[in-house]
Amino acid sequence: MPTVTLDNAIHGPSHLNNGQPYDYLIVGAGFAGSVIAERLAAGLGKHVLLIDRREHIAGNAYDCADAAGVMIHRYGPHIFHTNAERIVDYLSRFTDWRPYEHRVLAHVDEHLVPIPINLTTLNRLFGLSMDEAQAQAFLAARAEPVADIRTSEDVVINQIGRELYEKFFRGYTRKQWGLDPSELDKSVTSRVPTRTNEDDRYFTDTFQAMPLQGYTRMFERMLDHPQIDVLLATDFDAVRDRVQYKALIYCGPIDEFFDFCYGKLPYRSLRFQHETLPQSQLQDVAVVNFPDPAVPYTRITEYKHLTGQVHAHTSISYEFPCGEGDPYYPIPRPENADLYRRYSALADATPGVTFLGRLGTYKYYNMDQVVGQALALYQRIEREHAASAQASEEVVP
Ligand code: FAD
Ligand code: UDP
Repeated sequence: MPTVTLDNAIHGPSHLNNGQPYDYLIVGAGFAGSVIAERLAAGLGKHVLLIDRREHIAGNAYDCADAAGVMIHRYGPHIFHTNAERIVDYLSRFTDWRPYEHRVLAHVDEHLVPIPINLTTLNRLFGLSMDEAQAQAFLAARAEPVADIRTSEDVVINQIGRELYEKFFRGYTRKQWGLDPSELDKSVTSRVPTRTNEDDRYFTDTFQAMPLQGYTRMFERMLDHPQIDVLLATDFDAVRDRVQYKALIYCGPIDEFFDFCYGKLPYRSLRFQHETLPQSQLQDVAVVNFPDPAVPYTRITEYKHLTGQVHAHTSISYEFPCGEGDPYYPIPRPENADLYRRYSALADATPGVTFLGRLGTYKYYNMDQVVGQALALYQRIEREHAASAQASEEVVP
């Protein structure tokens, strides 16, 4: 992976070193920026400068060893899951996979029970021994039908009623988002289903696995191309008027790009408290959720479950949601979508720049969705490239 300094980048693509402009400046070396950089370089032979204000590639998916040598995800647990075969095929060029199915327990009423709520959850919590049909009837009796489901409260109450909503969703969501579920779009809690069978997997996607040597290694291989220069610890502001480029792809926050001219788009942030423990295992599963509002964090992650690493120590992180800090989560609610639409219209009217990724398009996307978005952008650019090549052939007699 050719990394360059700002002084190098000012002289153009490092392998040319002749003062030519880059074809693309790409801001943000997470999934969005790295996938589009790889495609433009390897697929179309473009010269790309990929920058990130952080000191590393891989964006929020970055993983590394802690001081004891235990692999951790610096920005919280990242579990890869998708139903899209073409996305698996694409990423498989850069990594092998470790099969992994994610399981989560919730700490509720002094019990540790599966979340998503399933048959085991209900039986354990209420001291029952229902079968699937009885559990369906149990939930149907508690569900409070909502005619027009709009919010994250509506979705859950409609499915499982108020008592289970209070136990599993209300406190967690209020901590995670700093908002009541009634103030959030239904898409947020809809991410977590309810089941009446014993399936205790967090996701049901056809493909669930972790990059065998980690995300960072996968990104290193993706970016290992002579026509991609990587410039780290560098903000867009530091290069925008100093490096020459023909087009810009921006994967940072769209409101920041436009100097917050319509006001700030709200994001939710997190503080991660990482700890290494002198024991080989802390908990039975990778993640334990704490919906109790009296507990200040939302979840504890133990990384060895994700990576399969064998080590005498174990590493965990606590997640404390907060309002200030790195922008991790676009907040899905109607007024934010309206504000984003104004920025998006401004983006459409601004030539030479394309916005991409979770922050660039203000969408609560999973990793596979961001990869899909980047591959779709590439296909569009490829088509435009082919069309303009054909047009110039037609002009030449
Ligand atoms: P990012 O990874 O955020 O990358 C954007 C990059 O742009 C950052 O590195 C940032 O430093 C850089 N940048 C921004 N502005 C500038 C600037 N002005 N100049 C220079 N650089 C800049 N998805 C899943 O599929 N499964 C999961 O289990 C999962 N878990 C998650 C857990 C947490 C705690 C979080 C926060 C997210 C999780 N996600 C998960 C979502 C996943 O992180 C995102 O889908 C993915 O990382 C988005 O990639 P991106 O490239 O759009 O953004
Ligand atoms: N959620 C909850 N209790 C839980 C798990 C999730 O209330 O035990 C809600 C919460 O609002 C959360 C949303 O469901 O933000 C989506 O959960 P998911 O695990 O998909 O969140 P992410 O992994 O994106 O942080």
